[in-house]
Amino acid sequence: MSKIIERIPLPSPTPGTRRELTLHRYGEAGARPKAYLQGSLHADETPGMLTLCHLVDRLDGAAAGRIRGEIVVVPAANPIGMSQALLGNHLGRYEAASGGNFNRGFFSLAPRAIELLEGRLGADPEANKQAVRAALAQALDEVPATGELAALRKILMGQAIDADIVLDCHCDLEALMHLYLGSDLWPDGRDLAAQIGSAATLLAIEAGDNPFDEIFSATWHRLAAHFGSERPIPPGALSATIEYRGQADVDDAVAAGDADNLYRFLARRGLIDDEAGPLPELATEARPLEATALLHAPVPGIVVYRKRLGDAVSAGELIAEIVDPMADRPNAARVPVVSETDGFLLSRLVQKFARRGAVVGKVCGERPLPSRRGTLLED
Ligand SMILES: [Zn+2]
Repeated sequence: MSKIIERIPLPSPTPGTRRELTLHRYGEAGARPKAYLQGSLHADETPGMLTLCHLVDRLDGAAAGRIRGEIVVVPAANPIGMSQALLGNHLGRYEAASGGNFNRGFFSLAPRAIELLEGRLGADPEANKQAVRAALAQALDEVPATGELAALRKILMGQAIDADIVLDCHCDLEALMHLYLGSDLWPDGRDLAAQIGSAATLLAIEAGDNPFDEIFSATWHRLAAHFGSERPIPPGALSATIEYRGQADVDDAVAAGDADNLYRFLARRGLIDDEAGPLPELATEARPLEATALLHAPVPGIVVYRKRLGDAVSAGELIAEIVDPMADRPNAARVPVVSETDGFLLSRLVQKFARRGAVVGKVCGERPLPSRRGTLLED
């Protein structure tokens, strides 16, 4: 088996400091299919990082010659966020210097790719796919990236830009395993959802604000819409964000099981010459992301949940109570948080205290909700 460990330096942000990325690259460069997996772009979301550490073990142990395509694994995709702390708290979601969310604002390549592709596409979807890949690579190459975060974004995008499978491994606060996927990647991604044990697969063409996974799905959707059926462009990659449960769900046995599921998925997709085994039953059919209700705290205070993760809930049903610790009779002064939809409780807070208006949970429903318009992801 050929494997390369690559260390890519980021530009030094300030004199005397320097960070780098570590990539594990399996198989031959340019071999197909290609899979790219990264962990902890939100650097305080550790479960995916540990899962990919276990996946590296599994791939290192694969018998010689078993890697059929190319697999790139980056267990820790965000050394900037990994280094940030304030008063003892790890701050890995936003860049401290700019306030930018590490999983938003990836470079929008569609406008430049459209310019590059005018007059160069035909009726053959496969030929168009190759042309689009080349155009996206050139568009990315032209993006100026001077600062450290811009350079990090450009490097990560460059590693995934030509992949057939892109898996960005995150986690929620306290949650069931779930998956975000482009609507037009379903049912293609059904085997991924089933193999990883996804409790909820949430579909959107474009959730908004350019998260990493959508660069490799929504961009292609935009190009396909622009060029129309005369010049068909198929999806470029099965690109997904996997939410490996909650922030506290960091456990060797669980991560080893999750890595085994990724290994089996890659084997089933032809990247590893090994037994994938039977595909597990899918827990829940995919649902539109617009059907997942966000529960907001109507008042500030202590959040006391009345439902556990996975509990079925009905519209109007009590999910939690907010306790005002400053009230005359604090325990009597409770304000209900109710579900606006039928579904099941997908996520909760990890620290059970909320400011007014904070999202304190998500209910995964089946029908799109009027409250879920515009940008669908929380910042
Ligand atoms: Zn995340």
